Order: sequence, then C-alpha cells, then structure tokens
Amino acid sequence: MKFRKRNSERVKDRAETATAGTEEIKKELVRIYREEFGKTPDIVTSAPGRINLIGEHTDYNGGYVLPVAIDRRTYTAAGKRGGELFIAFSKELGKKTSFEILPGKFEHSNFWVNYIKGACSLLSEIKPVKGMNFAIGSTVPRGSGLSSSAAYVVSILEAVSRLYEIPLKDIEIPLLAQRIENEFVGVQSGIMDPFVAKFARAQNALLIDSRSLDFKHVPIPEKGSILVCVTGVRRALATTEYNKRRQQCQAAVADLSERLGRKVELLRDVSLDELKSLKEQMDPILYNRSYHVVTENQRALQTFAALENEDLGLVGKLMLESHISLRSNYDVSGPELDTYVEIAEQLDGVYGARMTGAGFGGSAICLVDSDNEEELAAEVEARYRDRGYQEGHVFIARTGGGSRVERA
Ligand code: ADP
Ligand code: MG
Repeated sequence: MKFRKRNSERVKDRAETATAGTEEIKKELVRIYREEFGKTPDIVTSAPGRINLIGEHTDYNGGYVLPVAIDRRTYTAAGKRGGELFIAFSKELGKKTSFEILPGKFEHSNFWVNYIKGACSLLSEIKPVKGMNFAIGSTVPRGSGLSSSAAYVVSILEAVSRLYEIPLKDIEIPLLAQRIENEFVGVQSGIMDPFVAKFARAQNALLIDSRSLDFKHVPIPEKGSILVCVTGVRRALATTEYNKRRQQCQAAVADLSERLGRKVELLRDVSLDELKSLKEQMDPILYNRSYHVVTENQRALQTFAALENEDLGLVGKLMLESHISLRSNYDVSGPELDTYVEIAEQLDGVYGARMTGAGFGGSAICLVDSDNEEELAAEVEARYRDRGYQEGHVFIARTGGGSRVERA
C-alpha cells in the first residue's frame, strides 16, 4: 500500500495545532474574560467532545452505548456579578449577549444562550443563582456529530454549580444537561453525550447502560487509533429525523407490547427471537428500526468484550455491521458517511469504520492501526476529497477525560 506523504504532513501539522490549541485556549479565554469583563474569572471549567465507538440510537431505547471522549474540549470561564443580569461571550460565535433568567423565555435570535439559561434556571430550583459573566471557548467542532453541545452545557453546569456551591451528585450533572437540551433547546437528545462528557476517562471507552445508568470503563488497546472523519455536511435534517426516529421507536414499543401480550417499556425489553417471530406481522419500517436497536445493543456488549480481549479485529467488524444496520435498517446515514466507510474498508491497517453520532452528515470514525495512523488519516482524507467532497477533513483523535475544574 502506497500512501501520499504530502497529505500525511498536513494531517500531522493539524493534529499538533489542535493539541497545542488546547493549552492555548485556556490562557486565551482568561485573557478574553478580563478584556470583556474587566476582572479575572472566579473559575474555569472544561468538558470534552466525544465519538461513539458503537451503540448508536440505543440510548433513548434504554440500551447500551460505548462512547469515548476526545481531546477536544469546551472551556467556560465564569464569575459572579450579582444582580439579575447575565452576560455571555462565545469566542467561536464572536457574540456577546446579556439576558435575564426568566421562566419559559426562549431566545430565538441568540439560540446558543438557551443552554446557559437552562443551566441557571434548573440550578436555581436547588439554590438561587444570581447574575454571572461567562466566556466560552472550544476546540470541539460544532454541529459535526462530536457533541459540542454536551461539552458546552456540562462545562457551564460545572462552573455554575461549583461557584454557587450547589450540592450536586456527579450523576445529576448529565441528567440536568439532558433536561436542558430537551426542555430549553428543544432537542430530544438522550443521556449518552452529557454522560460521557462527565464520566469519561482518557484512553478508555465508557459502556453505559442507559436504563440503569450503570457504567464501566474499558481500556482501548494501544495499537488502535481513532480517526475522526468530518463530512463537512451541515446536518440539516438531523433534528427532525432524529425526533422522528424516537417516535418510531415509541410506536414500535406500543405495537410490540400488544403483539407480545406483555408490557414492553423500551425496545431494550425485546429479544431478537421475539422480534424475528413477528417480522411478517409488523409494519416493515417499525420492524427495521427495532431490528437495528436490538442488534445494536448486542453489538455494543460484544464490542466491550472484544476490547477487554484486545481483539481490535472483532471491534472493527462490529463497527462495520453497525454502520450497515444504521444505513439500511435505521436509515440515518448518507452518501458522505457511506463514502468514508467505503474508502476505509479498502485500506490495509483499518480495523473498521462507521458513522458516529445521530447521522445525516456529521462525522464517521475509523479504528486504525496506530503505527500507520498519520498515513491512513491522510489517505482517507485525500480519497474523500477525490470523490468531490472538498469540505471534508480527517483528524486523529486522542482520547480525553471527563469534565473538570481547570482553574479555581
Ligand atoms: P453537536 O452537539 O453535534 O456539535 P448540536 O447541534 O447538538 O451539535 O450543538 C451545536 C450547538 O451547541 C450550537 O449551535 C450552539 O448553539 C451550541 N454550542 C456548541 N458549542 C458552542 C460554543 N463554543 N459557543 C456557543 N454555543 C455553542
Ligand atoms: Mg449535540
């Protein structure tokens, strides 16, 4: 296999810039905060973006997910200002806006502040939160399926709860974050993203049982590297189609309860044999959606075991099966994501590839041999661009840890 070296240099440079950027952004954010608000922040917190290794569209069905936090983070510098006024500055958006926390008031023009309003409103129910300043900076690509929203909202929750000494158990952070996205932002997202943003451990994947919220870490063998393949396609359909899938799963649950003559609470409660026995009777779309969820739960557990056995070949095979199921049974892939997976499949040194996150654009991931990670990243990117997708890029994702205080 011959790789294109010129591209390899480019990927390497970019990886180094991104990592260097992580330290830089912390310092820069403190400087920005001082410039914007005339004093030093009382606290700086951060939370990571993530990829999901496997277990897609399973969290809202009470199933298993296996995400990994990456070394791209969102930082929140915050301080008390007293009174009722809140002022927030987002470096990425280049926007500064002031607002008050009024119940039920959504911002349409400054959509991004709904996350902060949600955090302060919900925390105020526990202990009053007064006016604050915020400066936000991030190295997580936004709207690329890498969960910039959970990184953002979890870092906000950490900052506000610590500053006001609001007693929260660790588990309450992702639960509040999910409520904020559901109730204040209007996305019916599941628990996975904020959960991994809180509980991730570097060099580990995190198996989450979305029903019981039990979780356990499993090391990622060193010979495996994760490439993130950003499609560069805006996820225009993502929210509508995502909410539609959730409704279809609910409809399938109602249908299965009736046909099986017992209470099915979540698709998690149905076995593959039970489902298969109803194939001819069920609506084909509801059957296919259920089939994906039930088999994807099995694949997530199998992947966890394969990681324990350091069997990356099997992990890769399961990733590919997951992709095919998301494409054909769940219908949430797209030509760009399929192209990345097709390209990856043809290269030596790739264990497996799949779309990651909700789908409809966003990003794909490849699990590759770490000895050849740079060459493979460059090759995947070059071939994707050769196929006419100039907006795409590929980066090597180092793993990251969960949310933390960077500076108190
Ligand atoms: P994803 O979580 O996959 O990146 P989402 O659509 O769920 O995509 O979240 C993206 C939204 O989160 C943005 O439109 C914005 O409202 C908010 N957001 C994320 N990061 C930032 C940031 N650094 N500054 C301001 N808003 C942000
Ligand atoms: Mg999100």
